[in-house]
Amino acid sequence: MSSTWQPPTTPAPVAGPLVDSFGRVAEDLRISVTDRCNFRCTYCMPAEGLQWLPKSEILSFEELTRLLALFARLGVRSVKVTGGEPTVRADLPELIRMFREVAPDIDLSMTTNGVLLDRLAEPLAAAGLGRVTVSLDSLVQHRFQEMTRRDALEQVFAGIEAAEAAGLVPIKINCVVIGGTNDEEVVDFATWSRRTGHAVRFIEYMPLDAQHAWERAKVVSSSRILAAIDAIYPLASTAPDHEPATSYRFADGAPGGVGVIGSVTQPFCTSCDRLRITAEGEVRACLFALEETDLREPMRSGASDDELAALIRGAVWTKWSGHRVNHPDFVQPARSMSMIGG
Ligand code: SAM
Repeated sequence: MSSTWQPPTTPAPVAGPLVDSFGRVAEDLRISVTDRCNFRCTYCMPAEGLQWLPKSEILSFEELTRLLALFARLGVRSVKVTGGEPTVRADLPELIRMFREVAPDIDLSMTTNGVLLDRLAEPLAAAGLGRVTVSLDSLVQHRFQEMTRRDALEQVFAGIEAAEAAGLVPIKINCVVIGGTNDEEVVDFATWSRRTGHAVRFIEYMPLDAQHAWERAKVVSSSRILAAIDAIYPLASTAPDHEPATSYRFADGAPGGVGVIGSVTQPFCTSCDRLRITAEGEVRACLFALEETDLREPMRSGASDDELAALIRGAVWTKWSGHRVNHPDFVQPARSMSMIGG
């Protein structure tokens, strides 16, 4: 934990919205349904993968659904299913159906590498999933393979098409930009967005890789990304929504659009409304948090919903004012992105 961070001296509220001690209200939940992934993105994990959790340590469908219902009761409005790679969890459409049953009005989406969407998009949409975000770091076959360690670009394109056909729209594309690797593709992505109509959001490379190989020199700033695109396709800003991405449309009225998530160079901590649950039931109030609150053991030991709610409120209350990535005392969390649920 940061040396300057002090936990709040007052207790968490016992009612009302999920608020932290700085007044931010958590309304957006990322729920990881597995720590496993079928890609091996170089900036996320080593080629051999990670030590996956045994099945008994992963929350069951019933536990995940109970938590989702509880978070919805506590004011969460939007839920993103994540992982690892969420589509590798067996019977995912059934889980989505269970989620939809307990939270019919929630904004329910999923982030995926897209490789299994060609066969899963339709059953997921039928089960009640609203839309998908697809992670796509290169439009070039050899670079895609180099970055993901999988020769699957065509399969991902097929997955995106299947998602569109199934009505999982609007589709957003997330692209992690790494200096010297795929940064020369940002304008090509903008061209692709204009052609397909899918908005592309560029994400700054963050120190959340399992190998701890992150280098600040490889972070391509959001402002550089936007300047490169704006020089070719002038951009116009769009009305802000509650997403961390700053979004732009093309000034000439072309379809699609671009956005940037500047977690490193332009942190959005002061307006962060996100919470995460890891696949084994730990609540994390910040991607970079060094502490977590376990819900699985209390659940398995018979905790009531009110007892779980008190634990959740406590976890949110102690959320840091902001991450420490740009401070000399920054400590990278033990969990990497895929183990957190990005
Ligand atoms: N497998 C799913 C997917 O691809 O969307 C969900 C989990 S994946 C960990 C979520 C997102 O985190 C992906 O867009 C991935 O590119 C991104 N990511 C992983 N490691 C990252 C890092 N070190 N910096 C920035 N983004 C990262």
